[in-house]
Amino acid sequence: MNCAEIFKRLEAFGFGKLQSLEALLSEAERQGITVQSLRNCIIERKEAIRAAVGDVTVIRRVCPECGDTLRYRPIRQPKGRRNLYGYTWHWVCAVCSFEEYSFESRTDVVTKYGVKKGASY
Ligand SMILES: [Zn+2]
Repeated sequence: MNCAEIFKRLEAFGFGKLQSLEALLSEAERQGITVQSLRNCIIERKEAIRAAVGDVTVIRRVCPECGDTLRYRPIRQPKGRRNLYGYTWHWVCAVCSFEEYSFESRTDVVTKYGVKKGASY
């Protein structure tokens, strides 16, 4: 296969990335790192990152009016002039405009609406 054919087949990456790859492979070779061991390490790291992300809990509360996922904003302003009632959460539905302020702690919200990211839903 000639260079034109190789570049054609890998054109999705662009020549800049190929140049970076060439620099990376040169350095790996200089350090005695094989392409296979480099690939294995990258795959291992990717899997570790994916597993870690899988442990992240996201907040997913369904709108009681229309069933869409609510958007939320934790309110950090303590009770006072700018937060008269001391609300801690603001829930809004982008579809039907349902809106709710609540006094839940972060722990309460995670317990009630927390979903493990990567879990099926
Ligand atoms: Zn709604």
